[in-house]
Amino acid sequence: MTTPPRLTKIIATLGPATASRKGIKELAAAGVNVFRMNLSHGRHDLLRQWISWVRQAEKESRTHLGVLLDLQGPKIRVGKFENGFIELHRGDHVRFTTEKVTGRDGLIHVQYRNFHKEVRVGSRVYLDDGNICVHVTEVNGREVAAKVEAGGSLSNFKGLNMPDAAISASPLTAKDKRDLAFGLAEGVDFVALSFASSARDIHQLRRLIRNAGGDAEIVAKIERKKAVENLEEIVEASDAVMVARGDLGIEIHLAEVPIVQQNIMRLCAVHCKPVIVATQMLESMISNRRPTRAEVSDIAQAVMNCADAIMLSAETAVGKYPDAAVSVMSETARKMEAYQRQHQRILPWSWYFKEDPPINLGITYSANRMVELLNAKALIIFTLTGGTARQVSGPRPMVPIFSFTSDPRRARKLTLLRGAVPFLWKQKRDFSEDVATVFRILKRRNLLEKGDRAIITSGIPIGIPQWTNVIRVEKTP
Ligand code: PEP
Repeated sequence: MTTPPRLTKIIATLGPATASRKGIKELAAAGVNVFRMNLSHGRHDLLRQWISWVRQAEKESRTHLGVLLDLQGPKIRVGKFENGFIELHRGDHVRFTTEKVTGRDGLIHVQYRNFHKEVRVGSRVYLDDGNICVHVTEVNGREVAAKVEAGGSLSNFKGLNMPDAAISASPLTAKDKRDLAFGLAEGVDFVALSFASSARDIHQLRRLIRNAGGDAEIVAKIERKKAVENLEEIVEASDAVMVARGDLGIEIHLAEVPIVQQNIMRLCAVHCKPVIVATQMLESMISNRRPTRAEVSDIAQAVMNCADAIMLSAETAVGKYPDAAVSVMSETARKMEAYQRQHQRILPWSWYFKEDPPINLGITYSANRMVELLNAKALIIFTLTGGTARQVSGPRPMVPIFSFTSDPRRARKLTLLRGAVPFLWKQKRDFSEDVATVFRILKRRNLLEKGDRAIITSGIPIGIPQWTNVIRVEKTP
């Protein structure tokens, strides 16, 4: 019996704990599909080396591995303190200033020059990932006075969030533009845009990528209230979406994060865009070998709702057990997918139905239906732009999508898509010959065995982008 490949993809963030030739190889062997480089940390010369190690691991493992460049965006931070940190207690009065000063007890430098213009009396300001909360009591020139509601220790350069303010800063800072140019020159596959607020932000990034001659796909990080309000236009404008629960959990009420996560997943399924669930999925494994039950349930929930990818951040960047964290994710996803195979059905056609549905949408949806009706083991597609792969994946089939493409860069972009298993292979002129070859490849790789049914879609004539007009049912010879 063949073991079906895991449908849910795993993203691991690289950092000091794993960024070595050996570390990357081990993560790939444990099941990582995409490596994330977080531009909040890391120098270009180091990142260049990391990317080359990922490419090497890809060659050695004979799979495809994606590289995701996560731009820092206008992350607001406090400055430095005389003693490295200050203590804040409930009821304390503190002053923030945008003047370049070194902070000390009662005084905090904010590295965002419009801070005093965008907060109001009564606004909440969160510090250190939301652990500390203050309320603004007075705004006086470049100084802002506030009263501490929830205290804690605040150290150098910690993050600051202003959920009540309309932040005017563009999500693409000068640093982001430099980082983007670097990433495109290195051929990264995906670029994540932090703190996107609207489709305009995505269009601006796309223009920059196109002008640089790049083809990286855009992942919109949903982590601002404004982004939640503009969700549908952002999903439509981007190539993929990340539920960035870290900042999102500060910017909106924490209890609303699961609801927003569900909404994002639904919209992404309807628009056939990959969705990533991110942050604190295995937080306790930063220091413990075993995860909590709640963390395993969080992963299982994301898989049950058919996330395309689940992401590890500090767990693999600085954690003590990076490989174990990937294994826990992989095993939890596999177990849940096995359960889903028995119980879950594809999403209803009414989610996709349009007045005059395009032919390829009808074909890709019907292929999903046929998988269920005929108990097929796989979908097989030929894709030029990746569009067919995304569309086939949209209704959330419970079988792998063996995706044949002639373009290595396209193959890497499929690493983020739920169920897609990319193969580099050029379609010939004769469809029957193609099918025979594809089965030979899949049998050789132990992905299908004699008698297994597969649903194949293609476009005839061959070679026209977005042209899928044929479904064929075959038994593996
Ligand atoms: C997040 O906020 O959840 C996130 C993924 O972004 P970052 O790690 O850049 O804070």
